[in-house]
Amino acid sequence: TGAYLEAMEAARALNAYVLETPERALAMAEAADARLARGEARPLEGIPLGVKDLFCTEGVRTTACSRILADFVPAYESTVTSQLWADGAVMLGKLNNDEFAMGSSNETSAFGPVVSPWRRSGSDAPLVPGGSSGGSAAAVAARLCLGATATDTGGSIRQPAAFTGTVGIKPTYGRCSRWGIVAFASSLDQAGPIARTVRDSAILLSSMAGLDRRDTTSVDLPVPHFEAAVGRGVAGLTIGIPQEYRVAGMSGEIEDLWQRGAGWLKAAGANVVEVSLPHTKYALPAYYIVAPAEASSNLARYDGVRYGLRVPGRDIVEMYENTRAAGFGREVRRRIMIGTYVLSAGYYDAYYLRAQKLRSLIKRDFDAVYAQGVDAILTPATPSAAFALGEKGAADPVEMYLNDIFTVTVNMAGLPGIAVPAGSDAQGLPLGLQLIGKPFDEETLFAAGQVIE
Ligand code: GLN
Repeated sequence: TGAYLEAMEAARALNAYVLETPERALAMAEAADARLARGEARPLEGIPLGVKDLFCTEGVRTTACSRILADFVPAYESTVTSQLWADGAVMLGKLNNDEFAMGSSNETSAFGPVVSPWRRSGSDAPLVPGGSSGGSAAAVAARLCLGATATDTGGSIRQPAAFTGTVGIKPTYGRCSRWGIVAFASSLDQAGPIARTVRDSAILLSSMAGLDRRDTTSVDLPVPHFEAAVGRGVAGLTIGIPQEYRVAGMSGEIEDLWQRGAGWLKAAGANVVEVSLPHTKYALPAYYIVAPAEASSNLARYDGVRYGLRVPGRDIVEMYENTRAAGFGREVRRRIMIGTYVLSAGYYDAYYLRAQKLRSLIKRDFDAVYAQGVDAILTPATPSAAFALGEKGAADPVEMYLNDIFTVTVNMAGLPGIAVPAGSDAQGLPLGLQLIGKPFDEETLFAAGQVIE
């Protein structure tokens, strides 16, 4: 813990942490040492972790990287983090993310962007770590924690993991409790770890997962000993390659990587087959209706009365307006506008209802492939390696949304997905592959992911 606290201090320029909690970390580490000395170690005793600033931490400022929660100190701890601490893990601090987890580059944070520890060979240009869990990914990649919590609504664990050469798993919807995590789009949000290896991510997920009566969407299924699945291999498994993911304009590098990944799985004894997910092309537009719709509803609670920031006005309506105008950044306001529009009476059937129908069709595509005996699906994690800071997004939000093309389907279908480092591009930047699993079959993802990493 001491070494990690020193590394954090030396790497502040990355802006990965938005709050360091050294006193708490050292107290937790001392308690862990004492338990280790007594031979009473729990599964994560003394393991130093970073926490995405979307997880409420009792008595420790939690902002979702928004001005509207700038001074919010929760009186409660999220279920996921409380389970990690109960297993002996140590909290180093809170990690930067896109504001309310809306973004793919960590550039929408009220605390400013995170800088990736990676550089293109022969260039000093700062790169994005991906988003929204950019702080988590950068901190793990730069060795500023041993692992980190993250959340994934449309790719926010897997895309930054792919950009930073780390491992990120979004478990099946319902595997982890959402209680105490700042809500973005409740039917899509899931927590998961970002870690250095498939094994580390398996160990962390076992601690994070499980039924919680305070989240009615968390499921009552036993949590497997995920680490036992690592090393199990893929002999006899059938891996699907979905032809629809060969999108127009896909770079040769990504295509090669994808083929190499399929080759490694085949060499390890898997049967690799072509599959079809015909509604894939609708996933991105449908996601960018469902996610903002739910966000506009979830973010209605930030009204200057119950939480965080309040900017006074002449009457209560003006107070709401002043508070929300000052508290939310551009991307969050854009989502609220889109969400409110697609949910409004005159447009509900044309947009929101249609998006929900598409969501069912996307889910059925996967059901059909798994019914054919496919155990997991292999795709690229992202359409490219990490891009430069300031390169996308600010000018053209749609350009940024396109980055999520391979990840959002998984959230729409509620399935588990893992991003595993699999190679690098011509400039030495990491590239990742994604494995998509059957509902509640994260074990196959750990087994197959370990063959690729
Ligand atoms: N980039 C996507 C978005 O902006 C996904 C974000 C996420 O998974 N939290 O909505």
